[in-house]
Amino acid sequence: MKLKNKTAFITGASAGIGKRCAKELAKRGVNLILLSRRKEKLKKLKEKLSKYDVTINIYAADVTQYAQIEKIAKELQARSIVPNILINNAGLSQGLDAIDTANVKDWDRMIDTNLKGLLYVSRLIIPMMKELQDAHIINLGSIAGRQVYAGGSVYNATKFGVHALNDAMNIDLFGTKVKVTNVAPGAVETEFSMVRFHGDKTKADGVYAGYTPLNAKDVTESILFALKQPTHVNIQEIFLTPTAQRTTYLTHRETL
Ligand code: NAP
Repeated sequence: MKLKNKTAFITGASAGIGKRCAKELAKRGVNLILLSRRKEKLKKLKEKLSKYDVTINIYAADVTQYAQIEKIAKELQARSIVPNILINNAGLSQGLDAIDTANVKDWDRMIDTNLKGLLYVSRLIIPMMKELQDAHIINLGSIAGRQVYAGGSVYNATKFGVHALNDAMNIDLFGTKVKVTNVAPGAVETEFSMVRFHGDKTKADGVYAGYTPLNAKDVTESILFALKQPTHVNIQEIFLTPTAQRTTYLTHRETL
């Protein structure tokens, strides 16, 4: 896809991978629809990206609330704004506990955000994209959607689910020009671990100790690679990890 003058809808744009995607796409002339719950962060990002010649619409909304997403979809339709690119990025992990001791509220948040949220956004945005001659959905999967690890159970289940939904979208969009790509990273240093450990910085920092994790730009480069392919090329999956991490269980830490 030629990126200039296209429009991208990015969920989870206030931080990490989504924020970086917004920046790199704005740089390349892509108009943006940015969604996440923290309005202040979105406002600041919009200000920062105002130096680029693109239109930016921000929506402070929660992907787990179908009515909120429906209202946004209706507004976009009314304004004839049709996203060529949908980046289903909003997601989180909560806790790292065994299945018999974990907090059920953590499970609910992960299932509601990573699965139901992705489905709500997809259900409402994909119909607008279907008739386009050039359209692309990027789903943020994970190494956790390939390999289960101790304490990961429900997060793993949601990301295995995202991988299944990516395949399902490729099947359901058969015959259309909408490409579908699962970008599945290993460890990426973002706000992700702070969120997982409910703000415990020591635990969050420990996740990235002794090796160089991926950063949001590394993942964005993979997303751009998939997006920039010519019309006849559909990259269905990209799996990337830090060089130090080969599976969820094998991370080589220099200082430990
Ligand atoms: P991050 O820095 O914590 O960013 C997550 C983004 O999701 C934030 O913008 C957050 O914004 C948004 N979000 C969370 N819940 C939301 C909700 N209910 N409604 C709307 N937005 C919501 O994490 P990240 O690492 O960039 O993660 C992005 C995606 O990559 C996730 O799907 C994650 O599972 C996946 N991933 C991450 C890693 C990693 O190691 N970091 C590895 C593999 C896959 P608000 O808080 O403002 O709503």
